[in-house]
Amino acid sequence: MTDTADVVIVGGGVVGASAAYHLAAAGAGSVLVLERADELGTGATGACAGGFRHQFSSRVNILLSLESVRMILRFSEEHGLPLDVAQDGYLFLVRSEESWREFLAAVDLQRSLGVEVDVLSPKEAAELIPGINEDGMVGATFGPKDGIADPSGLTQGYATLARRAGVEIRTRAEVLRVDSRGGRVTGVSTPGGPVSASVVVNAAGPWAGPLAATAGVDLPVDPIPRQVVVTGPFPGAPDRKTLVIDADTAFYFHREGPGVLMGMGGKDERPSFDTRVDDRFIAEEVLPMAVQVFPPLEEADLRYRWCGLYEMSPDRQPVIGVAPGVEGFYLANGFSGHGFQHAPIVGKLLAELIVEGAARTVDVSSLGLERFVEGRVVPEHHVV
Ligand SMILES: Cc1cc2nc3c(=O)[nH]c(=O)nc-3n(C[C@H](O)[C@H](O)[C@H](O)COP(=O)(O)OP(=O)(O)OC[C@H]3O[C@@H](n4cnc5c(N)ncnc54)[C@H](O)[C@@H]3O)c2cc1C
Repeated sequence: MTDTADVVIVGGGVVGASAAYHLAAAGAGSVLVLERADELGTGATGACAGGFRHQFSSRVNILLSLESVRMILRFSEEHGLPLDVAQDGYLFLVRSEESWREFLAAVDLQRSLGVEVDVLSPKEAAELIPGINEDGMVGATFGPKDGIADPSGLTQGYATLARRAGVEIRTRAEVLRVDSRGGRVTGVSTPGGPVSASVVVNAAGPWAGPLAATAGVDLPVDPIPRQVVVTGPFPGAPDRKTLVIDADTAFYFHREGPGVLMGMGGKDERPSFDTRVDDRFIAEEVLPMAVQVFPPLEEADLRYRWCGLYEMSPDRQPVIGVAPGVEGFYLANGFSGHGFQHAPIVGKLLAELIVEGAARTVDVSSLGLERFVEGRVVPEHHVV
């Protein structure tokens, strides 16, 4: 058991695993991951739908996706480890004029940055995914280079690479507190005693806020419960694995096994760490919306349900960078429903920030925590 490391990463989800590998590969010294659960990837990562997309409304998210999706697609070839990936696209269905204007502006921005994205009529959207309801649809956007990958495969893959690069990963290892002195991080406290480190990375997902608070850092990241339902086979189940989103309700589905996986945001979402399945919400809100958006679902039976936590920031953008006032304490939090797909590049950027002093691959200086007090906030509108 070491009680000292150059870098301590708190959290063994996909972000912590990616950060661990990239830090070790970049020569950050001894890296120690502390995960309180029995296994890696049981937090938000374990509940994730696995989607990746370039279709965001903000420039920084599109740039993060361009790099990260490339890393997901090349993962198996580059590292020789398995990863299930299906690049069948994301299809956003838009049913209000106001949202449509916003989507068309986002398409212009995406194209200006080199993203391939198609603008479709309702009929063309229904040709792509036969069975979707065209009623009231103004138009649709389709990103053929978007897709779905396996969150557990990516987490375990990065953990394997990290271990090979010398990282120590401890499970059942809770961090009680991030320690600091004189505006500098000194390590973390665990039930087994302190671990000293000059760099600590907060990769605690939905629990990032309480962890940051132990170092006196006010991190506005809320845990928001999200319900997921998987069906059995049914007539009219889509052939393609395209992730289909009804933009105005944030109801989404994609082919999963012989049926579909689906989920939806609620209108009055409240922060909570409660991950019990909400049968009322599923019966009264998710299923009626499911049948409205994709009528063939009426004949589907429900096989599995679970609930996971989104880590929501006020502007739906991640917080990446050093915590103001606590030198050496790095934040990689608040991904607001898209942390899986950005985990590869975020791990790499953390390594650049920590080892080289600046993020080179993508400029993430706009994503520092100080933006909330300085009022430099550019909200992301395409939150699923
Ligand atoms: C239902 C659902 C669907 C989603 N779909 C998508 C999607 O399609 N595409 C996408 O990109 N993203 C999606 N997301 C979001 C994505 O899952 C998250 O953004 C991502 O997994 C965050 O990874 P993480 O490693 O930061 O957090 P987590 O996976 O939650 O990992 C944090 C880890 O920190 C540990 N931890 C916390 N506190 C401590 C402590 N004090 N000491 C030690 N360990 C601690 C936890 O046990 C946990 O394992 C979805 C999320 C949900 C809930």
